[in-house]
Amino acid sequence: MTTHTITAQWDEIPENADDRALVEGRAFRTFRCSCGTPLPNRAAAELHASETGQCTVCLGSADEEIVPGFVRRCAACAATGRRNVQLVWEVAHGEAEQVITLDLVRGLVDGFPGPFRLSEVADATRLTLGLPLGRLPVGPRVRDLLREMEAAGELVMLSAPDEMLRGPSVVLYRDPQWQRVSPASP
Ligand SMILES: [Zn+2]
Ligand SMILES: [Zn+2]
Repeated sequence: MTTHTITAQWDEIPENADDRALVEGRAFRTFRCSCGTPLPNRAAAELHASETGQCTVCLGSADEEIVPGFVRRCAACAATGRRNVQLVWEVAHGEAEQVITLDLVRGLVDGFPGPFRLSEVADATRLTLGLPLGRLPVGPRVRDLLREMEAAGELVMLSAPDEMLRGPSVVLYRDPQWQRVSPASP
């Protein structure tokens, strides 16, 4: 049986590299598979991963190296490296978008008089909907909605980033804290 271990190797990253291309576009990498199939670019690597039953985000490794030297577990496939798990998880993401609405999260946030953490709102969401842990990607969906409320000026983020991966432009938050913006007093 042929094994298909896909590896990615970093290219030289220019000083002025586009951070979006680097992090979201996953550029500046060269790919190869242990079976010898040529993988000239990211799209070819993703296609080959999919053909061989592997997650198209981590290419089967279960880890994601976001910038050189910073690795985190692949969220797309629950760190299994498997395409079938990734597909199930994609459906779960869609379901989470349906059941966890902006109104629901806004209502939960209203129950916190002071600052609150992402994990606290995620726990409150699970409790309200009666969702067991790990059933739906609650945390990522709640985070997206809280960031949406932040962008709309309803919330302010209080936390500083936990990791600055490429200066202040690529940052990571583990369990950020927000606070409601009180309506201006008359
Ligand atoms: Zn292969
Ligand atoms: Zn993966």
